[in-house]
Amino acid sequence: MGKETIAIIGRGIVGLTTGYRLLEKGYNVIFIDDSPYQSAASWNNAGLISPTYSALSPSIGTIKDISKWMFSKNSGIRISTSSFFKNLNWIWSYVRKSSLAMREEIMKLVYDMIKEAVEWYDMLSKKINFDFKKDGLIEVYLAKENFDKRVARLENYPKLGSFEIMDAKSVLELEPNLNKEIVGGIFYPEEASLDPRKLMLKLISYMRDSGVNFFEERALRFKLQGSRVSSLSTNKSEVKADFFVIATGAHKEIYKSLNLRVPVIAGRGYAVITDAKVELEHHISAGDYRISIAQLEEGNLKATGFLEFAGVRDEPRKECFDFLHEKLIQYIPNAKNCKVIETWLGSRPCTPDLMPIIDRIKDNLFINVGHCRVGVCLAPFSSRLLVELLEKGRHDYDLFSMRRFA
Ligand SMILES: Cc1cc2nc3c(=O)[nH]c(=O)nc-3n(C[C@H](O)[C@H](O)[C@H](O)COP(=O)(O)OP(=O)(O)OC[C@H]3O[C@@H](n4cnc5c(N)ncnc54)[C@H](O)[C@@H]3O)c2cc1C
Repeated sequence: MGKETIAIIGRGIVGLTTGYRLLEKGYNVIFIDDSPYQSAASWNNAGLISPTYSALSPSIGTIKDISKWMFSKNSGIRISTSSFFKNLNWIWSYVRKSSLAMREEIMKLVYDMIKEAVEWYDMLSKKINFDFKKDGLIEVYLAKENFDKRVARLENYPKLGSFEIMDAKSVLELEPNLNKEIVGGIFYPEEASLDPRKLMLKLISYMRDSGVNFFEERALRFKLQGSRVSSLSTNKSEVKADFFVIATGAHKEIYKSLNLRVPVIAGRGYAVITDAKVELEHHISAGDYRISIAQLEEGNLKATGFLEFAGVRDEPRKECFDFLHEKLIQYIPNAKNCKVIETWLGSRPCTPDLMPIIDRIKDNLFINVGHCRVGVCLAPFSSRLLVELLEKGRHDYDLFSMRRFA
């Protein structure tokens, strides 16, 4: 392979894994991104790499659910009224495609893609340390009604991966610091987790040391010559490259110069990091609210949650941070006096079928966006497919094409 230059727009996890793979193949890689690391969805997400749990927890919704999400304040999923009217096409497409996520072959594909990620991150963590752990996940419930509903669903889903349905006593033996009033839980032994901030920083510094340039510039528009991109104008320069890859997550300004409609909207999520240092052996999912609780390497507990369809630049809602804090204490009572030391909001890039778009849109322009709730999980797979598309001119997954939204 030659030393062609590939410019990647966006250094979130999707851009970074794509860049890493291209670097390994001998390409000359450059990145264009001028935002602080913290503004990427990849910065402070839950860091869960969860083949079984993610495959068996599809985010589906009906019109009835959507109207409920518009008016509820603290439900796990919420749509702001302005976002509802701005994204009517997206919502319509989501409702039409929502049954896709329940299809057995899709669940199996999600499982396989994330299983691949567990192996890939395991391999990568031996080269660069980002607190990768294979300790499993426990999904716990405080309300019996919610637990029974979840167990009934799991029994109807295809048999994928391994999990064990446990009574409260067995869960508490595994995780003694959980609330003693839990009614039961599900243990997923195959699930892994990592610290997403460390993953980003370590990948950037590894690539920088290997000669990759990171330009602090904002990509504004592509210049076209026939069906090829001849250059990219940024706020500071004119970037020339042999190939360009768009990995801009939920941000859409870059599509204007291409006259391209990419159906990605921001599914915002919230995180709080607290000063609680109560010991946890596993990653916890507070199943009643779909909140994730993780222990950072420094010992602090972090809670993440919510899927809120609102503008990327809309103000965060303080009540979401308060809710995460309150629920963390409810599930881990020994953290009762903890204080929030950091808050964070990130925008998941969501397509209507919650699957990424991995495609070629001009002869030398590619796109890898739309990983929604599972971008860290899917990035190793989607970056592999993107490289295949770039080198061989095709990949085998029509499911990830732009055409599916035509
Ligand atoms: C609360 C929360 C919890 C989550 N938990 C998990 C989890 O446990 N597991 C999991 O797999 N996923 C999780 N996710 C989802 C995951 O974080 C995202 O799917 C993933 O980070 C998306 O990565 P990305 O690279 O596509 O986008 P981003 O990380 O947002 O990166 C996009 C980058 O593009 C840059 N950019 C945009 N436009 C331009 C432009 N014009 N010029 C230059 N640069 C530009 C931005 O500055 C940004 O740095 C979670 C998300 C949230 C919010």
